[in-house]
Amino acid sequence: MSKQSPVDGRGNTPLLEVSNLRTEITTKNEPVRAVDSVSFSVGRGEIVCIVGESGSGKSVTCESITRIIPQPPASIRSGTVSFDGTPLSTEENALRSIRGDQIAHIFQNPQQSLDPVYTVGEQIIEAIQMHRDVSRREARAESVTLLREVGIANATARIDDYPHQFSGGMKQRIAIAIALASDPALLIADEPTTAVDVTVQARLLELFDRLSKGGMSILLVTHNLRVVAALADRVLVMYGGTIVERGPTAELFDEPAHPYTQDLFESYGSIDDRRTTRARREIPTAGCRFQNECPFVVPECTSGAQPAFVPVTTDSNHMVSCVYYGGSYESNPIRNTDRTTDTQQTEQSTEQ
Ligand code: ADP
Ligand code: MG
Repeated sequence: MSKQSPVDGRGNTPLLEVSNLRTEITTKNEPVRAVDSVSFSVGRGEIVCIVGESGSGKSVTCESITRIIPQPPASIRSGTVSFDGTPLSTEENALRSIRGDQIAHIFQNPQQSLDPVYTVGEQIIEAIQMHRDVSRREARAESVTLLREVGIANATARIDDYPHQFSGGMKQRIAIAIALASDPALLIADEPTTAVDVTVQARLLELFDRLSKGGMSILLVTHNLRVVAALADRVLVMYGGTIVERGPTAELFDEPAHPYTQDLFESYGSIDDRRTTRARREIPTAGCRFQNECPFVVPECTSGAQPAFVPVTTDSNHMVSCVYYGGSYESNPIRNTDRTTDTQQTEQSTEQ
C-alpha cells in the first residue's frame, strides 16, 4: 500500500513553508512551549503527515499556520509562514479570507466547523459561492455531489437537515465537505477520520488520495500508521512540541532513526501502548526533548538546543534530530540495535 515518495514535494517552490514556529500556551500564568522551532514544508499535491503522541503539538502546529488558534491562551511567539511563495499576512481579515478560500481546516472536533443554526446545505453552498461565481442552483447541485463524495447517504434529502440531525461521524464528514467546497490549494486535516467507521474511513482516504493526485496539498495529522504508510509522501514525527525526525515515508518506515520514532512504531497497536497510556514525563527545556525517556541518553543530550537535523543516510532527505547521527555511524547504538519496524508490522496492527 505504500506510496512512492517524491524527493521533496512535487513542485520546485513548496506551497507551504513554515519556519521556526514557536507557539506558547499560557495556563495558570505559566507559559508552556506547546510548539517550538518547528520548520517544514508541504509541496504542491503532496501529502505530509504529522505523527506523534497526544500532546506533542500537532494540533497547535496546524492551528498556528493560519493563526486560527485562539490567542489567548495561545501566543504565536515567532515563525514565518509562506504560502505560494509569499509570506502570509498576520492580519486577521487577510487571514480569514485565506482560510475560507485557499487553506481549509478540518478539525479534530467537527463542531468547530459547523454552525448549528444553518442547514448543512446552506453552509456548503455558501462556501462554494464565496469561492466561485456560480448560481445557487449549481452550488446546490455541487453540494449534493460533495455530500455523496464524503459518504452521506440520501444526500439530496439530507442537504436540508441541520448539523444536530447527524451523528458525530456524519458531522465530521460534513465538515470535510464544507472544507472541500472552496476547492482549497491546501487542506489541513487534524485527525479527520477518528470519529468515523472503517468503511467511511477508507472512502475518505481514497478521496484525499484522489484530491492530492488532482493537485491539492494536504497536511494530515493522524494516529494511524497504516494511513500514513498508504497516503503520505513525507512524514514529520513530533515529540514534546518539536519535530524530531522527518523524511520520505518509505525511508522513515524502513529505518525509523530517532529513539522516539522507534518507540512509537514499536508500541503501535500493542495492548500496552505506552504512547497513549503512560503518564507524561516533564519535557525538558534544554537539550533533547526526549532525553528523560531515552534509553540511549548521554551527557551531550542534556544541554544546549534540540540537536540539529542530520541526514540518516547519505544522499537522503530523511533527517533526524539526535546526537548519535551525523558522523560516527559505526558507533551508533540506536542504529545497531535492530529495532527497525517495517510497514508490514504496522499494517497488521489495529488502529489506536
Ligand atoms: P496534539 O495535537 O499533538 O495532541 P496539542 O497541539 O493539542 O497536541 O497540544 C500541545 C501542547 O499544548 C500540550 O502540552 C497541550 O497540553 C497544550 N495545549 C494545547 N491546547 C491547549 C489549551 N487550549 N490550553 C492549555 N494547553 C493547551
Ligand atoms: Mg491534536
